[in-house]
Amino acid sequence: VVILGIETSCDDTAAAIVRGNGEILSQVVSSQADLLSRYGGVAPKMAEEAHLLVIDQVVQHALDDAKLTEKNLSAVAVTIGPGLSLCLRVGVCKARRIAGKFSLPIIGIHHMEAHALVARLVEKDLQFPFLALLISGGHNLLILAHGLGHYVQLGTTIDDAIGEAYDKTARWLGLDMRKGGGPALEELAREGDANSIKFSIPMRQHKDCNFSYAGLKTQVRIAIESKNLSVENNSISSTSSHERRLRADIAASFQRVAVLHLEERCERAIEWVMKIEPSTKCLVVSGGVASNQYVRTRLKHVVEKNGLQLVCPPPSLCTDNGGHNLLILAHGLGHYVQLGTTIDDAIGEAYDKTARWLGLDMR
Ligand code: ATP
Ligand code: FE
Repeated sequence: VVILGIETSCDDTAAAIVRGNGEILSQVVSSQADLLSRYGGVAPKMAEEAHLLVIDQVVQHALDDAKLTEKNLSAVAVTIGPGLSLCLRVGVCKARRIAGKFSLPIIGIHHMEAHALVARLVEKDLQFPFLALLISGGHNLLILAHGLGHYVQLGTTIDDAIGEAYDKTARWLGLDMRKGGGPALEELAREGDANSIKFSIPMRQHKDCNFSYAGLKTQVRIAIESKNLSVENNSISSTSSHERRLRADIAASFQRVAVLHLEERCERAIEWVMKIEPSTKCLVVSGGVASNQYVRTRLKHVVEKNGLQLVCPPPSLCTDNGGHNLLILAHGLGHYVQLGTTIDDAIGEAYDKTARWLGLDMR
């Protein structure tokens, strides 16, 4: 079984080829980071056009890398939501064109389920039930995964997701958004003092597992303005070292509190889950923000303190990609029992990509 996966839910155009046993044969992602940094966010119409421009190439590239042609495919998997409808449509139309030509089945994929289940590609022993924290640009979810398609939502954001807060903070601090707001902010935060500004931790008075990042965003904006730093046309590359230091302090203080909020919610979720589902062994952390080293280290500490194991896919599988879609498709076809067997290849693929990325223009 050879499956093509297509993902166009937001600003990345991604395709991957995966075997029914979970082996990733190729993975191609074309990013719109350049557009994003120029226009300050994802404009659906512009994102749709960008997807349309590259979708054929991205799919062809994935096929070429796998040394296959469309004729070799057994099925096509494609993200059907949640996401921007104009963008989703590009992927779905492409999937329909290929599937129509060769009478292949199309499997619709839920984007957040894919973010959660991609962990099964890298952790062959990962058993249900497990807890999953999904932290990305549009979502902040804590779920208990009982089995395939069987999820209980423990918490969600009541306003913004953490990735959105990272992106806005990065923009206001004048960081180079071409690298992505989150990674740029993580880097700057390393230079700062995380205790220099006392942002308050969101939703402490609510004893549940929900999240909120809108208030923290406002606190950050007020802090920037109260230090007389401009939030517009303020590229950090043209500031004095004193000002850079102020910005790094804000970045580090923001990150500390943003992640403390995750830690507190995870701690509560673990406590609750251990009572109702004591066989739970793992917390899976996935979604773009899970690429963040600080997030990983802090959550690892919380999880291990509570006797669980942290499972975090490599960064290339945390963010949007065509590969994680296919994992679920493989499940759907009943091949998920074999999913664990090619873990090394998947990791090798991730290492190869990372190595290639280190040598290339990140844009
Ligand atoms: P969703 O999955 O909710 O539809 P999305 O697909 O846009 O949203 P992802 O591609 O999973 O989200 O993740 C992108 C988000 O992850 C962005 O907000 C980005 O800033 C953030 N991100 C990526 N790397 C890092 C990092 N190292 N630190 C913090 N945030 C990061
Ligand atoms: Fe995503």
